[in-house]
Amino acid sequence: MQKVPIFENQPLAPLTTWKIGGPAQFLAAPRDLEEVYALMRLAFARDWPLFFLGRGSNVLIADTGLPGLTLHLAKSLQKIERQGETLRVGAGVALPKLARAAMNLGFSGFEFLAGIPGTVGGAVRLNAGADGQNLAGLLRRVWVATPQLQLLEFKTGELGLGYRSSLLLSFPHWLVVEAEFALKAPAPVAAIEEKMRRLVMARKARQPANPRSCGSVFKNPPNGPGAGALIDQAGFKGQRRGEALVSRKHANFILNQGQATAAQVKALISDIQETIWLIRGVMLQREVVFLPEDLE
Ligand SMILES: Cc1cc2nc3c(=O)[nH]c(=O)nc-3n(C[C@H](O)[C@H](O)[C@H](O)COP(=O)(O)OP(=O)(O)OC[C@H]3O[C@@H](n4cnc5c(N)ncnc54)[C@H](O)[C@@H]3O)c2cc1C
Repeated sequence: MQKVPIFENQPLAPLTTWKIGGPAQFLAAPRDLEEVYALMRLAFARDWPLFFLGRGSNVLIADTGLPGLTLHLAKSLQKIERQGETLRVGAGVALPKLARAAMNLGFSGFEFLAGIPGTVGGAVRLNAGADGQNLAGLLRRVWVATPQLQLLEFKTGELGLGYRSSLLLSFPHWLVVEAEFALKAPAPVAAIEEKMRRLVMARKARQPANPRSCGSVFKNPPNGPGAGALIDQAGFKGQRRGEALVSRKHANFILNQGQATAAQVKALISDIQETIWLIRGVMLQREVVFLPEDLE
């Protein structure tokens, strides 16, 4: 096997949608499962912490960066293969690309993914969703590589997929490598394209124009008003810490207006959590992942 290049002290901010965070001590982009295993083995042998990064659309990377080895998967594991009434898709495939692939095959049901800027792997991990749908409604099976170099196969029902959650959250060093989706709703390509266009336009109208965000910072609480409404009612719209700003358009979005730091975003997140806890008795749970803290 050709050796996988490993780069030292590589900036991670450009690999995230927030454009925030320090460097990776080591960064590598495995092309296939064999390279994933080789890198996992190396991290284990050297006792390096191991992190995964898809399209970086749901992470806040610390200003000090990440120790050990980060596997960047946005250009890896790109398989999209129809097998009868299913689609086998590599974990690095972008969700909009998956939505278009299903459309080109004449299958509806994937349109809601067109506006979510993550990878299949990142999306499986927390059952990404939008517009009343989520990944669980499409998924059939998932393959996961473990640091013990096993390849585990799960049926959808075994993954405990709920609202922005799954059992995979308890195993941060398991890497989703592939997922199988059901192709069950044939439809004319033009109708699918029109629905996709409509959903993407509606998102654009709801969400801030500044793309430097992580989408929704907090999950919606199980009962009562959504996180955005709670944050808005608490008066946070337009509040800032340095160049981290609570969007005036959608209060659950924190925007990087220039050179915001992870420390500033975290301070804003803590302010919001504390205030809403005090005035509404609701503890907002983060959807965004803090790296490395959440994995330590
Ligand atoms: C503008 C905007 C809008 C968004 N809208 C939505 C929305 O409507 N609905 C929604 O659900 N989300 C939304 N998101 C959030 C985000 O796009 C999703 O959570 C997405 O699934 C994250 O995928 P990613 O590849 O970017 O993951 P990353 O941000 O790279 O990683 C997130 C976490 O997943 C882990 N991870 C990444 N790849 C893998 C893998 N292959 N195996 C195991 N773990 C992995 C990482 O280690 C990290 O802990 C939005 C984000 C933005 C910026």
